[in-house]
Amino acid sequence: MSAPVDAPSDDVTGDSPELKHSFLVHNYKIPTKCSHCRHLLVGFTKQGLHCKGCKMNVHQDCSDKLTKSCK
Ligand SMILES: [Zn+2]
Ligand SMILES: [Zn+2]
Repeated sequence: MSAPVDAPSDDVTGDSPELKHSFLVHNYKIPTKCSHCRHLLVGFTKQGLHCKGCKMNVHQDCSDKLTKSCK
């Protein structure tokens, strides 16, 4: 387990994201769901984007719609 991190209050509405996600195109070997729309990341390779910071997985389209900043 990682060290505890002070979580910022969740009332940031996305007008000024404090931290941008560090997304990388990712090849998933097991079925993985998008953290934004909750749908499966489909395809054989490069199904989605994985954030190095908060470890979330999202569709490439969904990465544009994210309102939450990276933790
Ligand atoms: Zn999605
Ligand atoms: Zn992130």
